[in-house]
Amino acid sequence: SDVGPQKERVVTEEEWLQKWETGNIGFHKEQRHPLLQKHLDVLLNGRSGLRIFFPLCGKAVEMKWLADMGHSVVGVEVSEQALKDFFSEHSLPYFEEPVPEISGGKMFQSTSGNISLYCCSIYDLSSSIVGKFDGVWDRGALVAVNPRDRQRYATLMTNLMEKNSSCLLVTVSYDPNKHKGPPFYVPESEVKSLFG
Ligand code: SAH
Repeated sequence: SDVGPQKERVVTEEEWLQKWETGNIGFHKEQRHPLLQKHLDVLLNGRSGLRIFFPLCGKAVEMKWLADMGHSVVGVEVSEQALKDFFSEHSLPYFEEPVPEISGGKMFQSTSGNISLYCCSIYDLSSSIVGKFDGVWDRGALVAVNPRDRQRYATLMTNLMEKNSSCLLVTVSYDPNKHKGPPFYVPESEVKSLFG
């Protein structure tokens, strides 16, 4: 697995914000991800009323879907525009409040209370701020993290997960010499060494 060519690549927060501003968001899909539908039972494992985390959430439509099933959804995203678009595109009323533990951090919450989206960097979060989760949907998250930050990301995710929780992770496979990413190529061997 030749990951060499992407190892040093860095996409800044500013560049992500710019993608949102200019509508360069080809990663956003209007349809629910087929792999979430297919493997949902692995995530839920027969349980109801779970706390489910969406790292680097964008305006993922699956957040609405899982909330409608009765779960409580928490996401984190650097782009405020993405979060506001999420609520308005689903006609969900929300309010906004500061997050005292995070300088400049804000939380957008549906008035019904079951969707809480943090506007900050994922690296600003900890379980003392957001608690722990029963399930994680990681699509466009690990593969969007800068390669040099992967270990930090994986350690954080592990800390945010309850003992009996599951994470559904979507990666992409391609020749990293041919595209610079994101999404970055994360070989399965690396997924195993990151998450064990
Ligand atoms: N998971 C979403 C979005 C994937 S694109 C989906 O499936 O549609 C990756 C997203 O991560 C972008 O919206 C980008 O703005 C956001 N992002 C990038 N770095 C981040 C960071 N350090 N903390 C939080 N969000 C970040």
